[in-house]
Amino acid sequence: RKSVVRITTGSQALDELLGGGIETLCITEAFGEFRSGKTQLAHTLCVSTQLPIHMHGGNGKVAYIDTEGTFRPERIVPIAERFGMDANAVLDNIIYARAYTYEHQYNLLLGLAAKMAEEPFRLLIVDSVIALFRVDFSGRGELAERQQKLAQMLSRLTKIAEEFNVAVYITNQVIADPGGGMFITDPKKPAGGHVLAHAATIRLMLRKGKGEQRVCKIFDAPNLPEGEAISFYIIYTVTSGGIMD
Ligand code: ATP
Ligand code: MG
Repeated sequence: RKSVVRITTGSQALDELLGGGIETLCITEAFGEFRSGKTQLAHTLCVSTQLPIHMHGGNGKVAYIDTEGTFRPERIVPIAERFGMDANAVLDNIIYARAYTYEHQYNLLLGLAAKMAEEPFRLLIVDSVIALFRVDFSGRGELAERQQKLAQMLSRLTKIAEEFNVAVYITNQVIADPGGGMFITDPKKPAGGHVLAHAATIRLMLRKGKGEQRVCKIFDAPNLPEGEAISFYIIYTVTSGGIMD
């Protein structure tokens, strides 16, 4: 049996909310409006995953699948410096691929599994997991097929998490929810419907606060009653050095 590794997010408050950091062997999803910090958290995790275990890292490499073209190697540099790591060495351990269609995204995962069998990876990022599905299946009547393909992709991600003991961090978008849905005060909900809701073990809802502050709420943690959100939230800051308290 593989044992869970917890990787620091860079924010102590967020780590505490997560029980020590984002976990291997499962999928952690971050959803929230634009500029809420989903991609900057991904950048931070690219670095912190490479820290040794005793520094709350994962001592492993990172695979980054980018569907929006928002990965910035130059953003990694100040984050690496903040953690006292050599930026070039950190960048060398990030395997990056840009995906252009949902099929391409799926095929990249198949290729990555082969790589992960040979090298010690500890994190797989897909930013964003759903954007290409929303483009490739934009027509009415295509929703059922989209959800089926999405389920296939998510099941592949779960397999990778379990087989290679990696943390899977995916980002998601929010869509309008006229019914109010899970957020009475916020007429938005995560995209992907129940297929995504059931695949992600941990769902983080990110929201903009004052200035560089961001608010995070956690949903669907396994230790909580189903569908119930933790009633408290934490605040972290987005900086050039990554996510911080
Ligand atoms: P989207 O939905 O558009 O993908 P996002 O949730 O991924 O948005 P980020 O790209 O992570 O959002 O941006 C979050 C915030 O981080 C933004 O307010 C941005 O101004 C800030 N930010 C990004 N890079 C830096 C940096 N190098 N220094 C300081 N702040 C930054
Ligand atoms: Mg982003």
